[in-house]
Amino acid sequence: MMRQYELVERVQRYNKNVDEALLNKAYVYGMAKHGHQQRASGDPYFSHPLEVAAILTDMRLDDATIAVGLLHDTIEDTDATRVEIDKFFGSEIGQLVEGLTKIERLDLMSKKVAQAENLRKLLLAISNDVRVLIVKLADRLHNMRTLHFVPDHKKRRIAEETRDIYAPLAGRMGMREMREELEELSFEVLNKNAYDAIQERLKGLRQTNQTHIEAVVEDIKKLLENAGIKAEVHGREKRPFSIFMKMERKKIGFEQLSDIYGFRVLVDDVGSCYQALGAIHQKWSTVPGRFKDYISTPKQNDYRSLHTTVIGPVRQRVELQIRTFEMHEIDEYGVAAHTLYKDVSSEENNSGSGLPQLLQKDSFAYAWLQNTVSHLAAKSDDDDDETSLDFIENTKLELFQDQVFCFTPKGRLIALPRGANSIDFAYAVHTDVGDSCVGSKINGQIMPLVTELQNGDEVEIIRSPAQRPMPVWENLVATGKARAAIRRAKKEEKRRQNEALGEQILKRYFELAEKPYSEKLLRDSIKRLDCSSKDDLLAKVGRGEVLSEAVLEAIYPDLKNLDTKRSLKTAAPSGEGWFATENGSVKFRIPGLGERADVASLRKKLSNMTVRFAPNGGAVPGDRIVAIWEENVGVTIYPIQSLSLSKFDDKPELWLDVRWDIDENEHKRFPARIDVGILNEPGSLALITQVIASRNSNIERLEMKHGANDFVDVEIDLEVHDLKILNQIISELGQSALVSNVVRVND
Ligand code: MN
Repeated sequence: MMRQYELVERVQRYNKNVDEALLNKAYVYGMAKHGHQQRASGDPYFSHPLEVAAILTDMRLDDATIAVGLLHDTIEDTDATRVEIDKFFGSEIGQLVEGLTKIERLDLMSKKVAQAENLRKLLLAISNDVRVLIVKLADRLHNMRTLHFVPDHKKRRIAEETRDIYAPLAGRMGMREMREELEELSFEVLNKNAYDAIQERLKGLRQTNQTHIEAVVEDIKKLLENAGIKAEVHGREKRPFSIFMKMERKKIGFEQLSDIYGFRVLVDDVGSCYQALGAIHQKWSTVPGRFKDYISTPKQNDYRSLHTTVIGPVRQRVELQIRTFEMHEIDEYGVAAHTLYKDVSSEENNSGSGLPQLLQKDSFAYAWLQNTVSHLAAKSDDDDDETSLDFIENTKLELFQDQVFCFTPKGRLIALPRGANSIDFAYAVHTDVGDSCVGSKINGQIMPLVTELQNGDEVEIIRSPAQRPMPVWENLVATGKARAAIRRAKKEEKRRQNEALGEQILKRYFELAEKPYSEKLLRDSIKRLDCSSKDDLLAKVGRGEVLSEAVLEAIYPDLKNLDTKRSLKTAAPSGEGWFATENGSVKFRIPGLGERADVASLRKKLSNMTVRFAPNGGAVPGDRIVAIWEENVGVTIYPIQSLSLSKFDDKPELWLDVRWDIDENEHKRFPARIDVGILNEPGSLALITQVIASRNSNIERLEMKHGANDFVDVEIDLEVHDLKILNQIISELGQSALVSNVVRVND
């Protein structure tokens, strides 16, 4: 196993100012945490993170990333916690290790093919810091290198995931070395026969062609030297996987493959690239359609090079890549090479660290990474023909940026639009889960339901069978599914309320009429009242669509002509009388008494009317009130501040002067409405209910309305004895720190 000082030395080779203390601390901590854990191979577990760190040094990454390599499995596999890592190593490293932990959980879940695309996106989304991805790739590379110790079925799954997700990812990040090795390793596992066959053929060719490769390299070298171009020339054998892919793609056999060998020309600058190209094209004839200029038009992962194929010295096709050393570094190492070349050269005397921090927000590398990563979501692998895909890829990218990906505790992936919260999550899992959710744990911590979810969050919904969806949720959720379900539940709730209200109204009305009330009687009258069921009838009464006397008459037809209603106690012919409301009686006086001849008939008419309080806000004793008498509605009592009264301004004939006539001993309650802005906190509602209850008042209805992030508007219909008590409630609520404002409503 590599020693502490060996690791430090590896970093020192490219970074003289390595933070030795940090690396040593991470080494010791990681080793201690993993303790006696072992790998499938029987090696101490810590050898794995150590190798991962070593791979990262090959890519010349910064100290923090190397440390993360050492720590990457600690949260997942040991008793280490984010808090502890933050404490010892700072929150930057803590965050990176946590990112890796989230990805690790992905690997654990059983993977369905349909989810592959989602997984890839998730991976990207989690990795808002690209270093997480790089460490993950190094982690995966080491696991693939040591895969032979793993049981067969598991081996296959890991190899598939590597082929489908991680190798393309490495390619998209411009890390060709990484991509190729991952591809070869998974190919060997997944398609052993083809792999072995190709290896066998290559071995055969090597024996006969070795001299041929060297001859081509020598020819090219000589040619360039004569042209005065300084260059390195390399010949290489293509790897089995890329040979296999080419055979598959072109549907040809091994023998027909023309380009098993590739040649690479490395020069100092861009000008030399084109000079070299010119010299080669002058000497050998080109194969049509094979020339690509990725220098003037780089690939999306910033790959730059000239590609050409010529008929070479021995009349054989020779595939050539011509590029600068810098382009080559970038091709091999992607991200890391970029930091070295771009940032060091442009900010040489900057921090003095020699190696810039990979993700300083204003660095070139950062912009490059952002750009590259944002292209990673695209589906197609990077092949030679991706010229016109930009538009499609960018479109996909936008789609993906609008999403967050979260998990259930069992590892099911739930994709949600950005801005979604735990309520959306619950409804996405199942409508029943949404309807009954009361709280949520995000990554193990209890959080408010409205907390916006982040990529990779693990969300556990806390449910209660007694819970109903809160109406206010409708304005807080981001998904249509949740909104529709909440609306449905809201309607249902409203219907239930109306039923209860209808029943209350009827019972009271029957009581006044001194007639027995029963559900059976109601059921018998359903048809006559044109209702579909008893509940429907009750709801209609509650909504005011069916009047209580209509029900009474439907059940007791004989009552029609009897003046049994107590609602109007006829008084002396002074034109005064009382409305009996459901709460208490209100005295009225008919205006212009004496000048109107039809007082008697008016009174008779009034006696047949229902009396109610202003529907939006009610009225309580202490309010100055008026009544409006409308032919098809009945008599409605309004407090004079009520806004609705303006509708009747030009209809003086509808106004009745009324005043309260309350029997104090009866302790009746009257309807009023208040609007309360409360802090969106669990204790807020409890406070409201407690204040109202302490004044011996009732809440009839409570509706959460517009919910901004921190405040919720609650509309409350309550019943109070009188204005004095209502004002006390308003003033007490107004003094609470949880309440932003309270107003009485009289619409
Ligand atoms: Mn690992």
